[in-house]
Amino acid sequence: MAETLLEVKKLKTSFFTHLGEAQAVRGVSFEVNKGEAIGIVGESGSGKSVTSLSIMKLLQHPGKIVDGEILFKEQDIVKKSNREMLKIRGNQIAMIFQDPMTSLNPVYTVGNQIVEAIIRHQKLNKKQARKKAINMLKLVGIPSPEKRINNYPYEFSGGMRQRVMIAIALSCEPDLLIADEPTTALDVTIQDQILKLMKDLKEKIDTSIIVITHDLGVVADVCSRIVVMYGGLIMEQGTSRDIFYNPKHPYTVGLLKSIPRLDLGEKKRLIPIPGSPPDSIHPSKGCPFADRCPHAMRICKERLSPYFNIDEKHKAMCWLLHREAPKVDIKIGVQKGAI
Ligand code: ADP
Ligand code: MG
Repeated sequence: MAETLLEVKKLKTSFFTHLGEAQAVRGVSFEVNKGEAIGIVGESGSGKSVTSLSIMKLLQHPGKIVDGEILFKEQDIVKKSNREMLKIRGNQIAMIFQDPMTSLNPVYTVGNQIVEAIIRHQKLNKKQARKKAINMLKLVGIPSPEKRINNYPYEFSGGMRQRVMIAIALSCEPDLLIADEPTTALDVTIQDQILKLMKDLKEKIDTSIIVITHDLGVVADVCSRIVVMYGGLIMEQGTSRDIFYNPKHPYTVGLLKSIPRLDLGEKKRLIPIPGSPPDSIHPSKGCPFADRCPHAMRICKERLSPYFNIDEKHKAMCWLLHREAPKVDIKIGVQKGAI
């Protein structure tokens, strides 16, 4: 049996704004096993970042975890004090963000920032930490790390800066790395290199990884399991195989269709899902995707579907999976080869 590292149970997180309660995360449950990489995928505004910020307990005011548990090594993060979280963050759970320029401090050399991160979390002296920093830069594929360690962030390209961020995040050997849109700001070839690097590192240092992205194509190679989010809810989750070859939720099918297809040329690259994401302050009673779903039935707008298990690891929240629902082919219109 795989060992569970993180178990998110019925997590609800809201922002208490002057317009009302924005229910960003509306009861989300998933787990991450030791050494496993999972993907959280969904369009912008689905609640992916709020889920990860809840795990890190880095929610900004007026955001608040309203309900649920986040068990990390069987201890509930929701109940931890800020002081306890300081020990967990960076040391046991590390996070990298979309734009490494805003996360790196422009006035310190890259080396200084890695050394500082290492010393903060590990009992090493400066010389040992510097040696480790050079090793980390080498590990993430920065050429001549002995020289580059003395450079400032602006002296690195976007892709190289993201590698530096990964080096900082991994220098403390965290049990869990959360990468929120780690490649979104990068061009396609560099994206590919960063993802390969993450996959490589996962195998080398046995860190569990959560990759968050709006692009299903990004997680195909790296993640063994995928969680599909929309409107603050998990629409479907399963192995990468389930999600790519046997999707059961029309929203997942929509995401599959919108994967950029470089091989098909510029014109056919993207078929976005028509319509726009739901209002988190006034969520509907029914499925958040019902308004945009080509197969929506009356019940979809009235009541949220329970999860239907397709198999042990694969489940989806969709009334079409009810045994009395009409049989429709939700994959119609998916580009050949996309699934
Ligand atoms: P994603 O990362 O999937 O693009 P987020 O998790 O950032 O989406 O946001 C989910 C929803 O949470 C947003 O649609 C918005 O309604 C709400 N939200 C996020 N941050 C704030 C905030 N600071 N104040 C109010 N609402 C917020
Ligand atoms: Mg986000």
